[in-house]
This record gives sequence, structure tokens and C-alpha cells, in this order.
Amino acid sequence: MLTRYPTNAPPRFHVLVKPTGATCNLDCAYCFFLSKEMLYPGSRFRMADDLLETYIRQLIEGHQTNEVSLAWQGGEPTLMGLPFFRRAVDYAEKYRRPGMTIEYTMQTNGTLLDDEWGEFLAANRFLMGISIDGPREIHDHYRYDKGGAPTFDKVMRGLDVLKRHKVDWNVLCTLHRSNADRPLDIYRFFRDDLGAEFMQFIPIVERLTAEQAAVSLDLIEPWHSWRDRPLYVQAGEIVTERSVTAAQYGNFLATIFDEWVRRDVGRVYVQMFDVALANWVGAPSGLCVHSRTCGVALAIEHNGDLYSCDHFVEPRNLLGNIRRDHLIELVASEKQVQFGRDKFDTLPGYCRECEVRFACHGGCPKDRFIHTPDGEPGLNYLCEGYKIFFHHIDEAMRFMGNELRHELPPANIMAYMAQKDAAQRKAFADVGRNDPCPCGSGRKFKQCHGIGAR
Ligand code: SF4
Ligand code: SF4
Repeated sequence: MLTRYPTNAPPRFHVLVKPTGATCNLDCAYCFFLSKEMLYPGSRFRMADDLLETYIRQLIEGHQTNEVSLAWQGGEPTLMGLPFFRRAVDYAEKYRRPGMTIEYTMQTNGTLLDDEWGEFLAANRFLMGISIDGPREIHDHYRYDKGGAPTFDKVMRGLDVLKRHKVDWNVLCTLHRSNADRPLDIYRFFRDDLGAEFMQFIPIVERLTAEQAAVSLDLIEPWHSWRDRPLYVQAGEIVTERSVTAAQYGNFLATIFDEWVRRDVGRVYVQMFDVALANWVGAPSGLCVHSRTCGVALAIEHNGDLYSCDHFVEPRNLLGNIRRDHLIELVASEKQVQFGRDKFDTLPGYCRECEVRFACHGGCPKDRFIHTPDGEPGLNYLCEGYKIFFHHIDEAMRFMGNELRHELPPANIMAYMAQKDAAQRKAFADVGRNDPCPCGSGRKFKQCHGIGAR
């Protein structure tokens, strides 16, 4: 029982719960988490009922706010079966303080959802994140099951369950070398074919040490399955060829932004665009990756082990176990506070002087393994992409930020863009397809502002 909040305790924090550990019914080629099974040899990988109750009690006790997020992830959390989640909701109800709201979220591959799940998720107002990498041929490239079979149809069946039961859902799409050059195919598929209103795009950056690279014959797919991959830890300065490149990532975001900003503002929400707008107006961004510090988004394993972050489930970032220490003591521990501060304290000088640092904040420390142009270590692998994207959206973000400050809808940007595009079409009317683009980009007109022009 908690008698007082420790010094340094954040009023609110976020924990991803992994009730099945890394266990999953799929075997996605790029999944960094499947190998974490090696941390718990011999485990059954099922969160015990008394631990579930302890966790939920501590989570609620540890919050000084009236909003608590109970977030499930994996591995694949639905492998625990519905009775487990019914008990979780009962425990949350048992310990909830008067006036407290519990927000239930779950990240799933969607393949095990059926109508019983749909009824439960709707009744308890779960927000579901469903992992889809794009249209069928893109999705099935890396997302297959343990037998190597494609998963697209099963995921679509799961999504259909969510839609029929009117469960809130969003798409989580990973970006890698094989889909990052198809931004509009992917964005339009989510928006038009699936009817997605919320989307997140997560870059796949898969690191290898020189030793791992030396023994691997294949940098494209150094391992094809969790069975033959080593324990994944954040180490190494080499990336697999499956990883997205920085430029691909930036161009992907910039391209879908151009479509979104002209027709979808206010009806489609792309996490990165919301985060950017928050940073442009000086509000909390809500995403650790693009915040000044981090450390309040942790991960807990099936046995109660608490780690600094979902991306750092590895021995050096183990904070302790909630069977021994209260969750909030671990969240407020010096080790965790330092972990969060390091995000800012270890920024290279190049980032500190960067003109888009207010929006970028150096990205996630897990991706900071390249050198700055003047040789300082600790620059983010995705830096080039961040620069492309944040510079590209500057004008639109300033416009939307200004609207917000005047209590006007940011969606007014669409009328502004329409006017601007019309003026530009007029000005560019006589430019030949193969002429240099008058915008000064250095590209041919047909590859720049003349895309689609005859
Ligand atoms: S390490 Fe990265 S993902 Fe983890 S909390 Fe910090 S910024 Fe977020
Ligand atoms: S864009 Fe690059 S230099 Fe600028 S803050 Fe981000 S990572 Fe650092």
C-alpha cells in the first residue's frame, strides 16, 4: 500500500504491459521484440492473476491525476484470452478512485479478434491500435505467421470485427525499406479503403553490431525468424537493409503531409502531424520521441519486471520488479529519472544548434548512433529525414499555429493551400515538363510542382 508519493514521482505516466511477454502468433521479420523471450528462459509467458491485480492497484495508486491509461501490448496480448482482460477491467473498477477515468488501450496484430472480443472491447471503450503495413502485397512482405503464411486476410477480418462493433481503432504502420517509397498508396489505402481516421507511422531502424554483421551473410535479412535471431539490444552502428533510410522516412512523411494538408485536416489524424503542431505552438507534444526529455513511458513484463522503455527491455534498463517495489517507486527512481534526462543531456552540439530542434528534440535515443558532420557521436540516424520533414511543413505549421492562437480551426489551412496552389498553377502555366522547376528545387518541373501536369 502506498502511503506517500516519492519525490520525483511524475503525476502521470504510461506503462505498456506485456502480459504474454514477447510471445506472439506472428513472426514478422523486423520485429525487435520477439527475441526478448531469451530474457526469460523456461517461462510460460503468462501474467499471473495476483500480479495482474497488484499491477493495476499500483498503477492507480501511483497516479496523482484522475486519468489513468491501462495499455496492453506484446508480443500479442490477445493470446491471454478474454477472461484475463475481463478480470483486468474488474480490478480497475475495484481500485478506481471516485472521479477517476481509466482509458483502456491495446496494440494488436488483430488476427485473433472475433465477435466476443468485439462486444467486450466496445463495452469497455477500448482504443485499439491495429498493425497494418499497407495494402495486401506490402503488408504481407514482412508480416507473416509462424508458418510463414501471409496475414493480411486475417488482419482484415479482425479489423472488420472492430468496425462492426464500433470499437475505436487506429492504424499503426511500420515503415521499412520495402514500403517507405509508396507513401500515397499506403495513406490512401488506409484512408479510403479502410476508412482509418487515426494513423501512426513508425520507422523500422534495426541495428547490428559489427560482430553481428560479420557473422551474418545477409544484411538484407540477417535473420528470417525469431528462432535464429540474437537477443535484440540497442547497440551497433550498422543497420539492416530492411531498415528505412532517413531520407525515405522524411520524404514519406512530407508526401503524405502534402495530401493531408490539402484535403484531410480535421478528419484524418496522423500522429506525427499532431505532434509537430503541438511543438510549433509550444504545447506538450504527447510523444516522447519529440519531447525534450522522456522517461515516463515504461514497459512491464509478464513477471512484473519493469523496464525504462519498451525499446529498452534489456538487462541494463531493468528498474526492478513490482512484487518487491511499488511501481511508482521504480518510476520515480534515480535511474529512471536519469534515463529521461539523458534524452536532453546527451544531445550533440549539432542538435542544440539545429533550427528545428524545437520540433525534433533529437528523436529517440535508441536511434542516436551516427556521427554529426563534425564527428561528434550521438546524432540520430533519422536526422536527415527529420530535417526534410520539419522544414517541409514549416509554412503550413505556422499557418495552423496562428489559427489556433486566434481560436480558429487549423483546417482553414486547406483553403489557404487551395489558393496558393491556384496561384502557382497560373504562374507555372507556361513551364515545360522537362524545364527546371521554377520553385528552385533543382528538379525537373514534371518531377516537382508539375507532377500530374500534362
Ligand atoms: S527511449 Fe525513445 S521511445 Fe523510449 S521513452 Fe525515450 S524517446 Fe520514448
Ligand atoms: S533534425 Fe537532426 S540535428 Fe536537428 S534536432 Fe533533429 S536529429 Fe538533431
